[in-house]
Amino acid sequence: MKLFKLSSIALISALALTACAPKPNGDAQLQQQAVLGVNWIQESGEYRALAYQAFNVAKMSFDHAKVKKGKKKAVVVDLDETMVDNSGYAGWQIQNNKAFDGKDWTAWVNAREAKAIAGAVAFNNYVNSHGGTMFYVSNRKEEGEKAGTIENMNKLGFQGVSDSTLFLKTAKSNKRPRFEEIEKQGYEIVLYVGDNLNDFGDEPYHKSNSERKAFVDQQQQAFGTKFIVLPNPNYGDWEGGMAKNYYKVDTQQRAQIRLDKIQAWNGKSAQ
Ligand SMILES: [Mg+2]
Repeated sequence: MKLFKLSSIALISALALTACAPKPNGDAQLQQQAVLGVNWIQESGEYRALAYQAFNVAKMSFDHAKVKKGKKKAVVVDLDETMVDNSGYAGWQIQNNKAFDGKDWTAWVNAREAKAIAGAVAFNNYVNSHGGTMFYVSNRKEEGEKAGTIENMNKLGFQGVSDSTLFLKTAKSNKRPRFEEIEKQGYEIVLYVGDNLNDFGDEPYHKSNSERKAFVDQQQQAFGTKFIVLPNPNYGDWEGGMAKNYYKVDTQQRAQIRLDKIQAWNGKSAQ
């Protein structure tokens, strides 16, 4: 009888605890999963080396590229995690358990604290002083993020950042119409530099990861010649490409999708 009472009390206490237990914080889970990627960006010489490698290859391709008669030579670059490093924002997200939020991002942009990616300023200056024009096609917003972006870039030493070369997002994040606008002005785009497949065209835009990988396979010869890729383990459209509705589910479910997507060894040896 006494035992029964004790176990009843234990059960009731356990139930009470469960009811009061805080729900696992999805935002915190997501940010904890991001730690090693951000460590890699900020700490590793390898990340720095890959950035130099990308811009060294970009320079060679730019030098070799010939444009059709009457056309002007253009290079299109993305900004975030291509020319500028926003890992300070990612670090703030981790320390404050914050999922991405447009308002926080705008505040970060206007803090003007993004750093230059290794090799990016030198490549920019090289293009603009060797017969080319660099166009910055970015999904930073035209409204509310333009002045901060221009000031931040000027401070970092990027040249030729102006209304005519900076194409920020007005309505759609698909960059194809902006590439076409540049071409209409008599330019031939010889090179695209980016950290996201959408920086190279609209075929992979909002597609699943299997479709995105198929695009990469089809374009195999273009990587390192026409398309130059910078690494970004922290975010990108590959993340949403993991599952339909990835950005419509809550952050806890997103953290779970990431875990479910892991392909793993079963732990058994072959013998
Ligand atoms: Mg980017």
